Amino acid sequence: MRIDVITLFPDMFKGPLTESILDRAQKMELLELEFNDLREFGTGNYKQVDDSPYGGGAGMVMTAPVLVDAIEKVKGEGDPYVIYLSPRGERLTQEKVEGLAKNHEWLILVCGRYEGIDQRVIDGGWIDEEISIGDYVLTGGELPAAVLIDAVARQIPGVLGKDESAEEESFSESLDRKREYPHYTRPEEFKGLKVPDVLLGGNHGEIDKWRKENCK
Ligand code: SAM
Repeated sequence: MRIDVITLFPDMFKGPLTESILDRAQKMELLELEFNDLREFGTGNYKQVDDSPYGGGAGMVMTAPVLVDAIEKVKGEGDPYVIYLSPRGERLTQEKVEGLAKNHEWLILVCGRYEGIDQRVIDGGWIDEEISIGDYVLTGGELPAAVLIDAVARQIPGVLGKDESAEEESFSESLDRKREYPHYTRPEEFKGLKVPDVLLGGNHGEIDKWRKENCK
């Protein structure tokens, strides 16, 4: 799967996406990430990407010509699915994450800054979907984009090793979209806190039953 990010701050993605499982996924060529610097599409001597809002008010708005130029250049002749990370978007859920991984080979993620982007980028059809990571406001779309990339990448077949399966996890279909049961490991007793007896007994029917009952 390929994911292009359009952002004013490409360096923000170093770290979260270059360690551990996501690093391995890129080395195995299961995931290809490209970070496109929106500043390079800016206009004039100052490479301007924003302007003051019509109607007045605080803050700046990212301009339509700059964003559309960037989206079209990144798209080229291809047909990626373009997502704008926005608090106004539909909430990112595990079901949505699974759908994105299953139905798209190529995503473009547009990261907003300031007050957000000119509405005409959305109304004109350059954005396929607006996605929010929750009902709170962050300073930019970079952290939401990193969250989406992480969640989608672990749904790509082969990205998780056998020990890291995404099948039976919180919000997965196999757990009826509930939160996962609690986990325990050695030691059997820690500061007076014991592992539930059923998990020590080796009866897999009983263990499955306990786990189902302890999803919420
Ligand atoms: N004026 C906007 C509003 O009130 O909805 C907030 C803009 S926010 C300061 C700047 C950018 O951060 C947005 O354009 C968006 O890309 C990103 N952003 C902030 N919160 C987000 C969230 N909860 N989910 C996804 N993106 C978010």
